[in-house]
Amino acid sequence: MVCQKNKRIAVIGAGISGIAAANVLKKNGYEVVVFEESTEIGGVWAVAYPQVRLQNISSQYYLSDFPWPFTPDLHPTPTQILEYLRAAVNNFQIDVRLKHKVLALEEQEDSWRVRFQNKDGCHEDTFEYVVVATGQYTQRKHRPITRTCRRNWHTLALRLSRSLAGIALT
Ligand SMILES: Cc1cc2nc3c(=O)[nH]c(=O)nc-3n(C[C@H](O)[C@H](O)[C@H](O)COP(=O)(O)OP(=O)(O)OC[C@H]3O[C@@H](n4cnc5c(N)ncnc54)[C@H](O)[C@@H]3O)c2cc1C
Repeated sequence: MVCQKNKRIAVIGAGISGIAAANVLKKNGYEVVVFEESTEIGGVWAVAYPQVRLQNISSQYYLSDFPWPFTPDLHPTPTQILEYLRAAVNNFQIDVRLKHKVLALEEQEDSWRVRFQNKDGCHEDTFEYVVVATGQYTQRKHRPITRTCRRNWHTLALRLSRSLAGIALT
């Protein structure tokens, strides 16, 4: 990835995908802000019923540069996953803004205008790039995106094994 210091990236969603994306982008020199509409990070794990377990085993489910800081169950509980994600956000000093719901994205010539709502009302901010990490179960809630000419990908498209290798964020 080409490092572009001083560029700002909005990540929508503080589930594990948004946190992982924010971590990598921040490490590459971008200023990253994560917008999360909920009162808690963790996405599906923040709303899962207590008896549910990760289907993977814990050694298969962590950020590659942040091992579990405690020993979780073989199949971690939602509580353990949330504890892990909170520790990761804290460790990497990721700027997560809870109770910030993104309402709309509007494409500008060289940037995106992000309209969001928090307890103080509706606001707008501008970012060079936006990562939509709203989870595959919530994608239809995230409308509208005003699109003109730039290419856009939803993470769902990655399941179709279309390779993004060699595509630079320019
Ligand atoms: C019971 C269960 C077991 C599972 N087991 C496994 C497993 O073993 N292995 C595995 O890999 N996966 C498993 N999964 C799948 C799970 O969905 C993923 O592991 C992962 O948690 C998905 O993360 P995500 O960040 O993509 O999406 P989510 O966790 O859905 O996070 C999306 C976030 O975006 C936020 N958001 C949405 N819209 C907006 C908006 N407009 N503005 C601001 N924020 C917004 C939501 O509030 C949410 O916090 C399991 C899921 C469940 C429910």
